[in-house]
Amino acid sequence: MQPGADLPKINPLTGKPFPVQVDDGKLQVELDSLSYEVLRKAGTEVAFTGQYYETETIGVYKCKACNAELFRSDEKFHSGCGWPSFYAPTKDDAVILLEDSSLAPRIRTEVRCAACGSHLGHVFEGEGYAVPTDQRWCINSVALVLEPKNT
Ligand SMILES: [Zn+2]
Repeated sequence: MQPGADLPKINPLTGKPFPVQVDDGKLQVELDSLSYEVLRKAGTEVAFTGQYYETETIGVYKCKACNAELFRSDEKFHSGCGWPSFYAPTKDDAVILLEDSSLAPRIRTEVRCAACGSHLGHVFEGEGYAVPTDQRWCINSVALVLEPKNT
């Protein structure tokens, strides 16, 4: 992933176009610049600045670029890392995982929306959090829209 390059419209894992083809020109107009930078250029919001890192509101987190359901408040936990953290996505196939060597030699696992291919964040494993999966899905607030659920 070259900095500044728009993300591909083809799923690199399958070689097929993503089911939702986002219009980058339209998104650039509709979204604030940080959201666009994170979603479409694989940027990262500054830790502890995002809208959702602390929230405990019950609901579903959707992709800000295409509205696909990605995460739920049920799997959200306080990791202390400064970004919204989940121990699992809504469904395994809601996201795709790619190797990210942008901080080489450190290799990270990048998380993208499986519907539109937008960048969401990274997933880390084996950090010892007391969560069922031992995974921390570290997701940018600006990549998400929380749809609160009326209980
Ligand atoms: Zn999406």
